[in-house]
Amino acid sequence: MRWSKSAEQALSKVPFFVRRRVRRKVEEEADRQRATEVTLDHVRICQQKFLKNMEDEIKGYQLENCFGSSGCPNRIPSATGFSDMVEQILKKKDLKTFLKEVVKGPLKFHHEFRVSISECPNACSRPQICDLGLIAAVIPSFSDLECSHCGACSEICKEKAVTLTDNMIRPEFDMAKCLYCGNCVKVCPTGALKRGVEGYRIMIGGKLGRHPRLATEIGGIFSEQNTLEAINNLLDFYMQNCLSGERFGEILERVGITEIDQRIIPLNAVGHWISGRLSG
Ligand code: SF4
Ligand code: SF4
Ligand code: SF4
Repeated sequence: MRWSKSAEQALSKVPFFVRRRVRRKVEEEADRQRATEVTLDHVRICQQKFLKNMEDEIKGYQLENCFGSSGCPNRIPSATGFSDMVEQILKKKDLKTFLKEVVKGPLKFHHEFRVSISECPNACSRPQICDLGLIAAVIPSFSDLECSHCGACSEICKEKAVTLTDNMIRPEFDMAKCLYCGNCVKVCPTGALKRGVEGYRIMIGGKLGRHPRLATEIGGIFSEQNTLEAINNLLDFYMQNCLSGERFGEILERVGITEIDQRIIPLNAVGHWISGRLSG
């Protein structure tokens, strides 16, 4: 639906983490009034409703996805539906009831547990500033097919992780630089490169606000199944340690990251094993 300039301006002042939700509500309001354009009045009506019924609007969590599944060429995962599975776990935890018990005073949007999924390392949905951030990843791997020495993999790699010189049979990968975007695999004309281990990088404890904190990455690439298990464990950890509606980052600062690592690493993360050159 079309938005007037003043309505867009008003929306831009809404905190980013609820902006998408507010946009949807305002459009619903305009639709109810059979309007063809969203105006400032629609925004104001929704603002009043929101403030009056804020607690009803709160789910206890926010889940944001990048636009990868709507056809972004950078998207890594080969299957869809992962986000729905993440949402099922979030719903099962009944975070709203939990937050009502621990938060002293009325529940607000900033108390909600924020999860963000990006389907490639470009990280458009800003997983680094969420309580739990997931970034899809694929490790390039060699197949049995021959390398033609075309150099396309080395040219496409923005991280300068691929080296190819005349005396090499095939390129060498510096996995310490690699961000697991899979672009080198996509451009390889002979199939000498293939998609290796696929999954998600997991980061925890990011936030903005008075004391911003970038999320801490848990070393490794986790398969889809292991990521779901990790999310379940991390949410349990959060609920066991959250004393008064603190953000996950604050909890991590208080209890330290080591305890979280011990819960996650047994789930067979693979990325942290790989360093130096890519093996065949
Ligand atoms: S994070 Fe990657 S896949 Fe998602 S929208 Fe951005 S560029 Fe596309
Ligand atoms: S997967 Fe790694 S090596 Fe390949 S293009 Fe991406 S960053 Fe470079
Ligand atoms: S691995 Fe593929 S892209 Fe890279 S040089 Fe060989 S044939 Fe070209």
